[in-house]
Amino acid sequence: MNQGTRTFLRAGLADLAAREHDVLVVGGGITGVGVLRDAAMRGLRAALVDRADFGAGTSSRSSRLIHGGLRYLERFQWGLVFEALRERRILLRIAPHLVRRLAFVVPVHQGDRVGRWKLAAGLTLYGVLAAGGNVPRPRILGKAGLLSLEPNLRSRGLKGGGLYYDAQCDDARLVIATLRSALQHGGVAANYAEVIALETSAAGVSGVRVRDRLGSDEAVLKARVIVNATGPWSDGLRRMEDPTANPILRTTRGSHVVVRRSRIGHTHGITFTSPVDGRVMFVLPWQDLSYIGTTDTDASPDADLSADLADVRYLLRSTNALFPHARLAEEDVISSWAGLRPLLASDPSLSASAVSREHRLLRGPKGMLTIAGGKLTTYRRMAAEVLDAVVKELDPEAGRRRYPRAPTDEEPLVGGESESWEPFRHAGTELGLPPTTLNYLFRQYGTETAALLNLVRTDRALSRPIHPEHPALAAEVIHAVRRELAQRVEDVLDRRLHLAAETADQGRAAAPAVAGLMARELGWTTERIREEAARFQPLPPPAATVPDGL
Ligand code: FAD
Repeated sequence: MNQGTRTFLRAGLADLAAREHDVLVVGGGITGVGVLRDAAMRGLRAALVDRADFGAGTSSRSSRLIHGGLRYLERFQWGLVFEALRERRILLRIAPHLVRRLAFVVPVHQGDRVGRWKLAAGLTLYGVLAAGGNVPRPRILGKAGLLSLEPNLRSRGLKGGGLYYDAQCDDARLVIATLRSALQHGGVAANYAEVIALETSAAGVSGVRVRDRLGSDEAVLKARVIVNATGPWSDGLRRMEDPTANPILRTTRGSHVVVRRSRIGHTHGITFTSPVDGRVMFVLPWQDLSYIGTTDTDASPDADLSADLADVRYLLRSTNALFPHARLAEEDVISSWAGLRPLLASDPSLSASAVSREHRLLRGPKGMLTIAGGKLTTYRRMAAEVLDAVVKELDPEAGRRRYPRAPTDEEPLVGGESESWEPFRHAGTELGLPPTTLNYLFRQYGTETAALLNLVRTDRALSRPIHPEHPALAAEVIHAVRRELAQRVEDVLDRRLHLAAETADQGRAAAPAVAGLMARELGWTTERIREEAARFQPLPPPAATVPDGL
């Protein structure tokens, strides 16, 4: 065990402290877990720590799109779009339970910033760049065609528009599935382990000092290469290596609000330019809910991460202008979330939306690698690039030959082995689970639904829902702790089961039962159960007074 490690470190951290790793990843968002998976698949001894839960940063607060980024075509970023469309194709294949095709309608109204001809050119190019992929081609539509797809759109001033396909994804579960895939290949990871300092030797960075945020212990984790994948917080870690390092990121806050889908009455994803400021926005279906996003305002990485009143007002006003019958107001907002975009700093005179979403890999003066920028969609590709650099650090002469690229584009993520859930339907029905519940389980877990059904088989009480408004089952809480490394009630209710965003009380009613179920796995006392349930304090959506329409 390393010097500085206390013998009573919790098990997850003690495992990491017990040996030297080839590569240690700091940050368990999508970028970090992607790097861990690639490293483990190349046969490296790979480890990861996150100061909060996996995915608790930006990667559970996105617009949940796996997309080429139609709007980047406006800025002629064709290479970026082409690469993202390729990744979309791969993710649809390796995680079919989490990444699903979604049809988008794009209305064009009189006076919109993007007119019909510009849209037609963009959609045609989007189709060409995605050619040979696994989604249908875009189509240009007239007013009648558009209204037949989305009859509740404002018809006044409607000129026509288009229909195209992208993919929607459960971002937080994509993080977990990627992490699980890494663990299956021998990677190790601990959440709630914060890097508070870097350890250095004459050769450069040789490890990190972490603080256990579930307790108060500290440990030194040794590694030959350190990868900084802390997303919006990357500059903070870079300054631990070099206090004079200039920032490479510009962070902006993006907010979403959630409303009942029936209040808007749409079927497709809707891409439109906000009548308020001409920015591209989305109204996206999520079962019987819709989420609306997003805003884009400069924000410090230390800022409070929640949607504010101005964000809510902007999102609802923009949607009301497009769907006048919706008349969305503050009481319609069920929940909201906001995330920090880790954008590469460029020309400070550019507006936030015009800043590039590309990524950058750099090596610090003491050898730490930082991967910054990027997006959810391109995480797999970014990870491959990072690992090419890691193996060169490990063996400058023969690294790429010793550790060639891993088939991360072919091997399914955990749960993605098959698109067919017929075998589970039969087993689930025998256990008395209704088709809607089975459908829900398959969307969350894919082929791992089998593990959930096994839990129910051994204890029928685990088939009960944990909240009256949500299909999540008690068995999922046990699964979240046992297989998905959940440590806190929030990890379960927010990122694993999504009750925080999908129920009117943000999942509060389920907190005591969830804490009780977690206690069975984690050995919590009665007092600890009470504490952990009380600690769960999701933010209510900010109240706003929103005028009808514009
Ligand atoms: P994060 O997910 O933020 O992970 C960084 C992690 O580092 C965090 O978990 C944090 O706890 C940890 N950390 C920080 N400091 C330390 C430390 N000292 N020690 C240990 N751990 C530490 N992309 C798309 O492709 N499609 C979209 O639809 C999309 N929509 C978006 C919408 C919004 C509003 C935003 C904000 C972004 C969106 N993105 C989208 C971009 C995408 O979400 C991000 O690029 C991606 O999630 C960044 O992942 P990451 O792992 O780099 O960072």
